[in-house]
Amino acid sequence: MLDNAHQTILGTKFRKEGSLCWPPNRLRPFGDDVNVPFFDYPALMRTHEAEFRQAVDSVLERGAFILQTDLADFERELAAYCGAGAAVGVGNCTDALTIALAALGIGRGDEVITSSHTFVATASAIVRAGATPVFADIGHDHLMTVEAVEAALSPRTAALMPVSINGRCCELGDMSRLAQQNGLAIIEDSAQALGASIEGKQAGTFGEFGTFSFYPAKNLGAFGDAGAIVTSDLALADFASKYRDHGRNNETGEIDFWGVNSRLDNLQAAVLSVQLRHYAANIGRRREIAARYHEGLQDLEGLVLPPPPEDPRRFDTFQNYEVEADARDDLRAHLADSGVSTILQWGGKAVHHFEALKVDAELPNTDRLFQRMFLLPMNQLLTDDQVTYVIDQVRRFFSA
Ligand SMILES: *Cc1c(COP(=O)(O)O)cnc(C)c1O
Repeated sequence: MLDNAHQTILGTKFRKEGSLCWPPNRLRPFGDDVNVPFFDYPALMRTHEAEFRQAVDSVLERGAFILQTDLADFERELAAYCGAGAAVGVGNCTDALTIALAALGIGRGDEVITSSHTFVATASAIVRAGATPVFADIGHDHLMTVEAVEAALSPRTAALMPVSINGRCCELGDMSRLAQQNGLAIIEDSAQALGASIEGKQAGTFGEFGTFSFYPAKNLGAFGDAGAIVTSDLALADFASKYRDHGRNNETGEIDFWGVNSRLDNLQAAVLSVQLRHYAANIGRRREIAARYHEGLQDLEGLVLPPPPEDPRRFDTFQNYEVEADARDDLRAHLADSGVSTILQWGGKAVHHFEALKVDAELPNTDRLFQRMFLLPMNQLLTDDQVTYVIDQVRRFFSA
């Protein structure tokens, strides 16, 4: 059981069907020995099955696959939800970041300041643009800090790419003031933070661009890859919507510039519109689970929890529930034995830990976190009994 669970958790070396996904998406997901799966992919469809089938059928019947009304509808709904001027659906969030960098003309010779506690996609978008990622260290809540960003500024800095990890916003107000003082752009990697806000303003709306991922295990999950860009600058939105479609100008039929193909297809857009209708309930459930974890685990020494949901300044959406423990590996082994699946975010490595990428960065807080952190199960599909079971099993470990 332990070996099995570890292979599931570590996932990447374990090329079973579905395991290319992250978190590992196993086709036949859980045996009797898993009481709390990390994420139950097949259950995602069952949540609103009739609505999903109707939305997909409608696209199929109309044969409306690419750049049709379902996409335009979802883009309008997403922009309205975020309080942004416009949204542009693209293939995935990595492309969203790439397109945002292209729209701002960021490339060779430029530096972009970001976090190393992120999916490699954040940095690879910067590298693929020809620019250099510069990594700022994180604070107690695992988010890159304004002080670290300030210390990383150089004459070559062109943009900040704050990563609002785990459904919690960075200090984006302070970051946008810093950006304005220094004439820098902000592209938010808000892949994990749709609907999260700080001081009443939503993730993705603090700079030139916000970017979202609708990977199935993200809070707003598609049934495949999908992403979006939001911006309140309509000229930038126009650039992005052409760029994702080969630079094509819909009105003139001209190619206005070199672009790429990264369109969000209509089937995914239709599914995402259904998901967005239920999004408030999804986040509400996640916040409820976070409150239960906090209530049930906050007194344990040797375990550090994320900030609880009640915070007048912020609205966190709990994409993940990332905890720290001194005895992390033993605690995870105990939980695996009890049938509770946990994972190490990014497979347990920050971007600068991947040796082949040859990143030179001194990030003591990030390094320390990666010795200690892991994710407890956190998603809208968990039952109260499962949450109670996780709490009981964690407490059992600390009372032993
Ligand atoms: C998921 C994720 C991405 C990449 O999103 P894709 O849609 O898979 O390209 C980028 N950054 C962060 C922080 C993410 O969590």
